[in-house]
Amino acid sequence: MSRSDAISDIESYFDDGVFRADLARRVAIRTESPIPERRPELYRYLTEEMSPYLEDMGFTSEVFDNPREDGGPFLVARYHESDGLPTVMTYGHGDVVRGYDDQWRDGLNPWLITEEGERWYGRGTADNKGQHTINLAAMKAVLKERGQLGFNVVALIETGEECGSPGLNEFCSSHKELFEADVFIASDGPRLQPDQPTIFMGSRGVFNFTMTLNLRDGGHHSGNWGGLLANPGVILSHALATIVDAKGQILVDGWKAAPMTNAVRQALAKLNVGGGDGGPEIDPSWGEPGLTAEEKVFGSNTFEILAFETGNPRNPVNAVPPRAVAHGHIRFVAGSDPKNFLPALRNHLDERGFEMIELEIEQDIMYATRLDPDHPWARWAVKSIEATAMRDVAVLPNLGGSLPNDVFAEVLGLPTIWVPHSYAGCSQHAPNEHVLAPVCRDALRIMTGLWWDLGAGDTPALGRTL
Ligand SMILES: [Zn+2]
Repeated sequence: MSRSDAISDIESYFDDGVFRADLARRVAIRTESPIPERRPELYRYLTEEMSPYLEDMGFTSEVFDNPREDGGPFLVARYHESDGLPTVMTYGHGDVVRGYDDQWRDGLNPWLITEEGERWYGRGTADNKGQHTINLAAMKAVLKERGQLGFNVVALIETGEECGSPGLNEFCSSHKELFEADVFIASDGPRLQPDQPTIFMGSRGVFNFTMTLNLRDGGHHSGNWGGLLANPGVILSHALATIVDAKGQILVDGWKAAPMTNAVRQALAKLNVGGGDGGPEIDPSWGEPGLTAEEKVFGSNTFEILAFETGNPRNPVNAVPPRAVAHGHIRFVAGSDPKNFLPALRNHLDERGFEMIELEIEQDIMYATRLDPDHPWARWAVKSIEATAMRDVAVLPNLGGSLPNDVFAEVLGLPTIWVPHSYAGCSQHAPNEHVLAPVCRDALRIMTGLWWDLGAGDTPALGRTL
């Protein structure tokens, strides 16, 4: 009964194919939360897959309906060993983005795991089924080896993260008693580099909106009306060109991040961002001038046009289209107030003669959070992971992507530690999503060590400092 025995157990779990089998079963459930007809699959993921797995480990579990009409269910599973022990809250999301089944490369199917060398393809392998599968299996290995965990657990699995986590804030706000804990430890998102263990303690926020220009009903023949009727596609593209320049620099007052603090700048200076083999190449001249690549993605606000449409791109006709729409998207760091984004854009457009463009917020805002890299729980996690991995851990003040971390950090008041198990080239949210098998195996070892150490007594929960 030792830490290294538990780590050997988890290596066998991976090497004997059990991890692959657990993950394959979960990937096969089509939990596409953006498709309303998939709601029963969201329930099935919790009731037929996750509840039995956790109950087998000694958890009690309950599935709650979402307080919102448009939201999927929540699973809350609790494991109580003793009052005097630290309690960890962990989290995962069982939903995935759309499968886009017909867009995957030949030979791949989003709902089956396909192995090609080190890559395991399948929707949700990276985001997030693979990640919570790793964390819970690691916990199970500690339980088996030690006979007990040495800590208490509350696990939350939600099923709406890919739609902006509708109802999560309300649910946690009204059930705070379920989530009393000393620390939050969970996994989502990518490692900084595939072979570098990474932790992050917050995330950028996300703000989605549409810009619509609706000039009239129906298209009109361009031979009769071209030159006489204003073209909404042309006008909207001119408006977009005032928001962001040709090199990706934001031009709207009030959209840029406040300057970074020295602590954040120093933490970022130690990092080296990149997607690893197979990841896209960074365009060095894109984005906010004067910032390093790490400062751009972890320390600043960025704007994207996600989609833009006028007329019918699949079947263009010789007509002046009636309407144009662009879907805009801002990622922002802690310290920016997203409630100011649309008023600032409204002013910006009005001053430039684009009053007729309508602006609308598209989904719930995910707020930005950040925890000091020197926080005792962050230092504890780094020490544990380094002891297992025998190499340096990348410490990010916040992730470049977005998570509903404000609910855990602010509503529930927990120190939040995220240990990501994917990598930036994993194609999450796109066709051909995959994980890297060696990273999964490494992550299983790291998490087993982390859970082992959490139950070994020497943690910030007991008031000891490192
Ligand atoms: Zn996702």
